[in-house]
Amino acid sequence: MAIATLLPATTAFIQRAPRMLIGAEWVEAADGQTMPLRNPATGEQLCVVPRATVDDVDRAVLAARQAFDDSPWSRTRPRERQNLLWKLADLMQRDAELLAQLECLNNGKSAAVAQVMDVQLAIDFLRYMAGWATKIEGSSVEVSVPLMPDQQFHSFIRREAVGVVGAIVAWNFPLLLACWKLGPALATGCTVVLKPADETPLTALKLAELVQEAGYPDGVFNVITGTGITAGAALTHNPLVDKLTFTGSTAVGKEIGKIAMDSMTRVTLELGGKSPTIVMADADPGSAAAGAASAIFFNQGQVCCAGSRLYVQRKHFDKVVADIAGIANAMKLGSGLDTSVDMGPLISARQQERVWRYIEMGRESGATIACGGEQFGPGYFVKPTVIVDVDQQHSLVQEEIFGPVLVAIPFDDEADALRMANDSPYGLGASIWSNDLAAVHRMIPRIKSGSVWVNCHSALDPALPFGGYKMSGVGREMGYAAIEHYTELKSVLIKL
Ligand code: NAD
Repeated sequence: MAIATLLPATTAFIQRAPRMLIGAEWVEAADGQTMPLRNPATGEQLCVVPRATVDDVDRAVLAARQAFDDSPWSRTRPRERQNLLWKLADLMQRDAELLAQLECLNNGKSAAVAQVMDVQLAIDFLRYMAGWATKIEGSSVEVSVPLMPDQQFHSFIRREAVGVVGAIVAWNFPLLLACWKLGPALATGCTVVLKPADETPLTALKLAELVQEAGYPDGVFNVITGTGITAGAALTHNPLVDKLTFTGSTAVGKEIGKIAMDSMTRVTLELGGKSPTIVMADADPGSAAAGAASAIFFNQGQVCCAGSRLYVQRKHFDKVVADIAGIANAMKLGSGLDTSVDMGPLISARQQERVWRYIEMGRESGATIACGGEQFGPGYFVKPTVIVDVDQQHSLVQEEIFGPVLVAIPFDDEADALRMANDSPYGLGASIWSNDLAAVHRMIPRIKSGSVWVNCHSALDPALPFGGYKMSGVGREMGYAAIEHYTELKSVLIKL
């Protein structure tokens, strides 16, 4: 066992009871209320953060509104926005270990993995978005205007920042999800009010410190901590917000989408998933099993595009399931500060109970638990679990569990695999394990999901748009697609 030592800066950050950033001020909630954060590896209280009131949220939105409409920020040039984003990324690089430790203590994930994955991906993404700041273009158009045949015109299309962005994110990748919103917002010149998940606000608060240190004007980035039901809802309903961007469950996303439509607030929704991993007969079963295991067990299965449904062509089914069970049984569970640990705790007692309910449901309906199927404490641990002998229509196959639980089903041919892969309300990601180029290219266009990976799973890149078909959401994060979602088009026609 090798336990990472906490940096003095990590301990100091937690001990000083972090506050929220509204405009230039680090503040308590208006009514002084707080909410406790827990360390998922122990269940013990880590610290308290402010529980924002509606009034706090309104003040944060007003600060963002003023910064967008009437501050030096509204006049920044692309080069300055590019340089500021690079500066922010550099500061995150400097504090990468601290950010990773906060993520570990607050979320339960491995600090070592968080540093190379969550934090580094967030830094790389901000640098990628810094590049776009200087490449946002409109176009000029030669127009006809048939109603005025004798006139001449000059016409062009501007791409303008959408304005004040209300961002609400989930707890599974707290820093990375926040940066997926912040990057395109700051590249295009928007301002942001971020509401991190109730459970995991610490890295967002540290990020706000770094935004200040980088030299962004006051009000460009505001962070409010609090509950979804109060702070999240207040942000969603605030008429001064121009765009809402949400990452979370499909149930909450649907509500936010409806509210956004009432006021025609622009909206991006990154929601749940139940992504298939498809192993074809020509694939090497050993490496496909290793890939399928990491597709579901990474981040304790709390990944929106986790490969949580496994379809294996019948000839390899028993071998692939046995290999995954072997990998799962060998996994060491424990604190994310222990570098010898393969899997950490789930985020909360509530999530542990939810995952456990699904495992019990499987048992009760006669499915076979091929491995795992146990939970333990202190902390919120569930062993990596594989379930077989389960029907495609079962809730275990159709519903998002959001934990280390894999359901595996055999298939006979390509058509069978496609039918089951697409038989889901969700459409976030899918992976195909095969070297049969013709089969792979036949399948890619027929899979209804926002991402398809071949011989890998959940592999993300800042340049590749990420988002969902069907109930997995509306819009895309990352890539140039994100720039489009943070800008409006304005058509200009000048009669000469
Ligand atoms: P959640 O929907 O319960 O909460 C997400 C956020 O919404 C939190 O900040 C929460 O405080 C806030 N919220 C809750 N109720 C609200 C309301 N009424 N109004 C406004 N805000 C409200 O989701 P969760 O349990 O935190 O996260 C897990 C879900 O997120 C899973 O379904 C997962 O698939 C999804 N997710 C999707 C992506 C993606 O990119 N598609 C990425 C990560 C997670």
